[in-house]
Amino acid sequence: MVSLSRFAVVSEEGVTFQAPVDGSEMLLTPEVSVGIQNQLGADFIMALDNVVSSPGRPPVGQALRYCMGVGYPEDLVVCVAFGTTMFDCVYPARTARFGAALVPGGLLKLRSAACAADFRPVDPSCPCSTCATYTRSYLHALARGGGEGVAVAGQLLTLHNVAYLTGLIRRARTAILGGVFPDWVRASMADLCPGGDYPQWSSEALAAAGIPRGV
Ligand SMILES: [Zn+2]
Repeated sequence: MVSLSRFAVVSEEGVTFQAPVDGSEMLLTPEVSVGIQNQLGADFIMALDNVVSSPGRPPVGQALRYCMGVGYPEDLVVCVAFGTTMFDCVYPARTARFGAALVPGGLLKLRSAACAADFRPVDPSCPCSTCATYTRSYLHALARGGGEGVAVAGQLLTLHNVAYLTGLIRRARTAILGGVFPDWVRASMADLCPGGDYPQWSSEALAAAGIPRGV
């Protein structure tokens, strides 16, 4: 709701959304919202403002920690170090709509001229369907072409960005299970922030989580 506030009016009854395409209105009540999320099989269900636990599948004997609105790859690494087990965030889809792909070392901006005649996939090491099927050049043409191509590029890059972040979390999980999580954190932060240029807050946060830099 917060990220859609431009298109929404909140009342006692629910939230009235205005469709960005044709301006038509739709009233989303808490009941409708929860019904839709149940049909989707959501792991987290939000009745507009409130987080409601879902009849999901929490691992026996383990607490689940859910973090909303995170985020950037380096933020995910830090939050995992603090015990977060689940995330949701618009970032991978929103940055995709701006024509940007998450790749090792930063963002690849598909709209840039450098991608016009680049016939490699977004990320040669990525197993996603976008990287298996399309070149940077093709995505550049879609993202720069206007019209529906821009939306299609956004969808294709969303698939990639979600695959990138789930891959990152999968590797974190493997490192935790293998007992090498601190080393993995240091290596990952070095990959994510080339040149050791990572923010001071993340160094301080990781030190507080028992993973000081460069040890
Ligand atoms: Zn990919």
